[in-house]
This record gives sequence, structure tokens and C-alpha cells, in this order.
Amino acid sequence: MEKWPIGVFTSIDAGLGVKLEVAHELGVPTIHLHAPAAQTRTAENADKFLARLEELQIRVTAVFGGFEGESYADIPTVSRTVGLVPLATRAARTQEMLEIADFAKLLNCGVVALHLGFITHDRQSKDYTDIVAVTRQVCEHCQQNGQDLHLETGQESADGLLQFIHDVDRRNLFVNFDPANMILYGTGEPLEALQQVGRYVHSVHCKDATWAQRPGEEWGAEVPLGHGAVNMELYLRTLADIGYDGPLTIEREIPQDPVRQKAEISHAINLLEQLKARIWS
Ligand code: MG
Repeated sequence: MEKWPIGVFTSIDAGLGVKLEVAHELGVPTIHLHAPAAQTRTAENADKFLARLEELQIRVTAVFGGFEGESYADIPTVSRTVGLVPLATRAARTQEMLEIADFAKLLNCGVVALHLGFITHDRQSKDYTDIVAVTRQVCEHCQQNGQDLHLETGQESADGLLQFIHDVDRRNLFVNFDPANMILYGTGEPLEALQQVGRYVHSVHCKDATWAQRPGEEWGAEVPLGHGAVNMELYLRTLADIGYDGPLTIEREIPQDPVRQKAEISHAINLLEQLKARIWS
């Protein structure tokens, strides 16, 4: 397989990614897919989608879980609404995550990913051991499906994430590294974090961002690739250093402006292609 094939984050009817047609128009060979809404996750739809992928010669390399009621409006809202952490929805969302994994299996996709949410740092607390337990449950279900589970980075520091992976202790648990999230959430210098968690990084997002005035308290700003604080060339060089050769999946979530979204993804593809050529020459 080609090293570092370009990818883009896509959506069918839920989530903020681009449509499959846009990925095709941009000539992208791989995608990450936001899980479609519950009522569309049928075997029939999976077959139709697979046929369309075959026709367009596009490969799904990860399916991302997402849930109704999640909001990324600001850091406190993320903490209250995102992932498997919020207690009121935990059981139902954990069940839904297993169904999303089964839908991903229908798409022949061996990777399922998600934001778990803000995990408490108190390892002695019941909340922590409960989150460890539900993560094990999802890992074990994925294992039966022949799938890996990737945790999206950002809400934890690299140290926190390593500790959590160690505590969950399942062999199919890995990391989807998103450097911009480290900046947006103010959880640490992304490239240092990447080196720290490197051995677990089995998928990545290419996304850029600028730091907030008060990192960790308020959001940084997501910006077009190459315009933020990540340093894309060093990011790719660090990925090369840790031995990562999977897809480079561009994530740019501004669905309110699809024309600009497509143009910026197109620029991002050019930037990544230039950097790939420079780094591998
Ligand atoms: Mg991401």
C-alpha cells in the first residue's frame, strides 16, 4: 500500500465532515467516516455505500462514533456532553458504540474511533474505573469483530492518555492523533505529545489550530492547514520518525460554508503532497 495516502473526514447524515462526493471530486483515495445516524445504519445502506465506495475507488480507514446531544461549543460544554463520560447517557451510548462497530464491520472497516470525553484524573475514583470498564467492553466487542479501537486525542494530556491505555490494558486499543486538538483543548505541545504516544498512533488527523489566550480554559481556534501552530512539516517528519505510514486524513469542519470547506481541503491536499515529496525525496 502507498505510504501516507491522503484522506478526508466525511459524513453521510451526521457529523460535520464533507460528503463522499466531495472526497471523490478532490481525488482522495481514503476517508474517515463519521458514523451515520442510527436509523441509517442498516445492512442495506451499508451495501449501497460499499458499492459507491467501490465505484469511486475510495477506502474507509476508520469509522468514528458520534452521538446525539454532543456539542463542541466550548470546553465546559464538551465536558458535559461529549463521549462515553457523561453519566446520564453512558449506558445508551456505550450500547450505540457497539452498534457503530457492527456497522463499521459491514463496511469491512477494521478501525472504530471516538472521543471518550473528559476522563477524570482521579484514578482511584469510581468514575475512572467505570470509564475503564466501558472502554474494555467496547474494545472486547471490537476484538470479536476483528477491529481496533482508536481514541481521538485532545481531551487528555499525553501522560493522561498513556496512563489510561495502560489501565484499560487491551491489545486492540490505539490512538487517533489529532495535533490541533492538543492546541484547541490546551492539553500540551502536539509534537512532544506525538512522540510520547507514538507507539500507539495507528491513525491521524491533519488539522491545524491556534492557541487560546488561556489554554485549557477557553477554546483555541481551528484554522486552515498550515496556518496554525502545529507546524505541518515537523508534524509529518515526526510521524515519519515514529514509523507511521498510514493515511493522512484531513479534518476541516466548517459545514456552514461548504464552498470554503472544499477549497481549504483542496489547499490542504496540495500542502500535504508537497511536504510528502520533500520528506521522502
Ligand atoms: Mg480530529
